[in-house]
Amino acid sequence: MKPVLSVRNLEVEFVTRRATLRAINGVSFDIAKGEVLGVVGESGAGKSVTGLAVIGLIDPPGRISAGEIELSGTRIDHLPPEEIRRIRGKRIGMIFQDPLTSLNPLYRIGDQIIETIRTHTNLSETAARRRAIDLLAEVGIPAPERRIDGYPHEFSGGMRQRVVIALAICAEPELIIADEPTTALDVSVQAQIIALIKRLGRDHGTAVMLVTHDMGVIAETCDRVAVMYSGRIAEIGPVQEVVRNPLHPYAKGLMGAIPTLAGEDKRLVQIPGSMPRLSAIPRGCPFNPRCAFAFDRCHVDRPEPITQGTQAVACHLFEPAETAA
Ligand code: SF4
Ligand code: MG
Repeated sequence: MKPVLSVRNLEVEFVTRRATLRAINGVSFDIAKGEVLGVVGESGAGKSVTGLAVIGLIDPPGRISAGEIELSGTRIDHLPPEEIRRIRGKRIGMIFQDPLTSLNPLYRIGDQIIETIRTHTNLSETAARRRAIDLLAEVGIPAPERRIDGYPHEFSGGMRQRVVIALAICAEPELIIADEPTTALDVSVQAQIIALIKRLGRDHGTAVMLVTHDMGVIAETCDRVAVMYSGRIAEIGPVQEVVRNPLHPYAKGLMGAIPTLAGEDKRLVQIPGSMPRLSAIPRGCPFNPRCAFAFDRCHVDRPEPITQGTQAVACHLFEPAETAA
């Protein structure tokens, strides 16, 4: 079966007056029906840009400079704006960090959901309202018959994010892209929202791309995980494998950052140094200035992904030893 989302050798560039900066450099991954792929890494790794590329929201001076993006077997990169707009909301649902980017503060939440349902289906006003109430119930809004007529400011942050999730799934999308969907929420509601996204993905057979900097969220939610660094995938594989047995030196550092007790600092602070700026990505492996294992080759050649069992790792340490001449 074809994957729901297939990204091949994606490159995204931002052209500034001084230079062309490559934010995404040769990223490839698939997401199958009903599968949750976590995309993790420090800020600036290219996680969000990858998500935006998939939904056609890279604005100039940014552009997709190479690669292919397929949704259920059809190319969707470089579609005319009105075609990709039709796909967003219908075939791809989006959940962002701040629910207020997706909700219009001036409209009742029900009207926004009903309008989206009616844009993408032939349902009557009454049927769409019925469906909106069902969706609000499904995402855990209490008393949905009454709350449907509320305005966004009348909901708490967590409840608002549930409304956004209802909006994201109302047209039964094939793919949901959730970018840091819980970062702005209280810790107490984060787990509920994550559990909800996971359950909806399973129940509806939706593919989910979950962008987060939080390894705890990844470990709890995802089937597979892609660890990004400097616009590339450092390692990708089944979540249990990558968490239990990370191969890439950067992934090893990240996994050390999984909190073991509630309330521990979940930020990825355990690797010394910081991600290079886009204008100063080192030659060879972009991780080489921070890597305890770096050797000569790491400063010269860019590592390509190498399959290791169910994982793939972009690191020279995993290259088969060269046979002596
Ligand atoms: Fe470290 Fe070299 Fe592997 Fe990069 S390629 S992660 S610098 S060992
Ligand atoms: Mg981001």
